Amino acid sequence: MSKRIAIYGKGGIGKSTIVSNIAAAYSKDYNVLVIGCDPKADTTRTLIGKRLPTILDIVKKKKNASIEEVLFEGYGNVKCVESGGPEPGVGCAGRGVIVAMGLLDKLGTFSDDIDIIIYDVLGDVVCGGFAVPLREDFADEVYIVTSGEYMALYAANNICRGIKKLKSNLGGIICNCRGIENEVQIVSEFAGKVGSKVIGVIPRSEMVQKSEIDAKTVIEKFGESEQADLYRKLAKSICSNEDFVIPEPMGVDEFDEFFRGFQ
Ligand code: ADP
Ligand code: SF4
Ligand code: MG
Repeated sequence: MSKRIAIYGKGGIGKSTIVSNIAAAYSKDYNVLVIGCDPKADTTRTLIGKRLPTILDIVKKKKNASIEEVLFEGYGNVKCVESGGPEPGVGCAGRGVIVAMGLLDKLGTFSDDIDIIIYDVLGDVVCGGFAVPLREDFADEVYIVTSGEYMALYAANNICRGIKKLKSNLGGIICNCRGIENEVQIVSEFAGKVGSKVIGVIPRSEMVQKSEIDAKTVIEKFGESEQADLYRKLAKSICSNEDFVIPEPMGVDEFDEFFRGFQ
């Protein structure tokens, strides 16, 4: 049985960077599958070295696509897929994820030889669409990426609301630092408030963007660096985590009061 992880967080917070780096870390010991469920479709770019065609684009051209046409292997033989997004202005992104997952299932992608599946999911809005990986039982455990900034935490709190509604398992909060004052403390206290914990702290580093420019993960480009070690450490913490909760999100006023307490 594969370990099935979903990573949620606000757009631009660092989900794809974390997903691709922990996938690269796992690839040393495990068979890994990464499924990008963000319409931005760039989760797997640093694993493959370029942008992948998305499943939605492929099936639009060809109904009976083969597994070789939708699934690509990247760094460390990590299997990579991008669900893709609907055409701007029409269609539902969540619906796209359902179509993509249905096709992957039909093509036998979820075979027993895959040890770890990681979903990268946008979470600015926790509508029915973006909740698909949880609602449709594709993932068993959720991690939320946030910084110590107001909007990132606000989104994280909203995601907790969705997780609670679906009675899913929150495994922890990942602090991807923006470099603001008291950041780790703010995120740790937030995690405590919703009944969870910080499972990893990733500092801001220029190595991330240097790797991104080369379409590589930090693990690949700066494998010996401390930053790469921190992604490996996060990967390990997630892999061995056995502490899951149904989160208890804060109310809107409670959240504002909580955040104001740090200013
Ligand atoms: P998301 O997938 O949540 O939209 P990305 O992973 O694409 O976010 O990250 C958004 C931007 O922030 C990217 O340009 C990425 O290189 C940068 N970034 C992410 N994490 C870090 C970090 N720890 N240090 C510096 N830059 C980062
Ligand atoms: Fe977009 Fe969500 Fe509405 Fe689907 S359910 S159209 S993903 S907002
Ligand atoms: Mg992304």
